[in-house]
Amino acid sequence: MCLLCEMAGSELTRRHLIKTGGVLAGTAGALALAPFPVAAKEKEKPAPAPTPDEALRRLTAGNARYVANTSRNRDHSAGRAARARAQFPFAGIVSCADSRVSPEILFDQGPGELFIVRVAGNFVNDDGLASLEYGVKVLNIPLILVLGHTGCGAIGATIKTIQDGMQLPGHLPVLIDALKPGVEAAMARKPADLMAEATAENVRHNVRRLAAAEPILSPLAADGRVKIVGGVYDIATGKVVLL
Ligand SMILES: [Zn+2]
Repeated sequence: MCLLCEMAGSELTRRHLIKTGGVLAGTAGALALAPFPVAAKEKEKPAPAPTPDEALRRLTAGNARYVANTSRNRDHSAGRAARARAQFPFAGIVSCADSRVSPEILFDQGPGELFIVRVAGNFVNDDGLASLEYGVKVLNIPLILVLGHTGCGAIGATIKTIQDGMQLPGHLPVLIDALKPGVEAAMARKPADLMAEATAENVRHNVRRLAAAEPILSPLAADGRVKIVGGVYDIATGKVVLL
């Protein structure tokens, strides 16, 4: 068993469940649950991990339902017992902490389906990278989406800091420093809509960072086992546009 899997402790991974023949195969956690009645639906074996393209189609289809106000994930208690035994997320999301950006809602996904790293400005630091490495290596996530959004306060503050030399209190300068590479690259092009371009460039910068991250993500991205993409969520329309 790999080191990361050992770190996962009693957590059941999709690979291990398939290898051992199903959710209830010989684990302390499963045995502890055995005396309790389990709904037939929750006894099902986990489906094989989707391909990266299938995972992306699930996200885009879910966002289309959300935009059309036809979301189908509304009973968030469904599958609760199964989720107590294992998780099988199909996509990792790097999202802003902004309260208006709720990945499960805007992609119409239920609990247990998205593995989300959230930080203001949706950038990747070492902690976020480690989380995503866990998601990919242990949970077999085939897709990572870096998700920017319109009206991002962190991007706006970074622009203002660079343009006006504004000083921010507390630890906020650490966050601004993390966003500068993408924002400065956008500013250098003098775009008509600086906010939009800086938001998109920050997403692209972090997609590149993830795709180049050794030793785990880079080789998986290079041979297509993991897809790393970027997108921007429009708060006004609900639509996510892939970059
Ligand atoms: Zn934001």
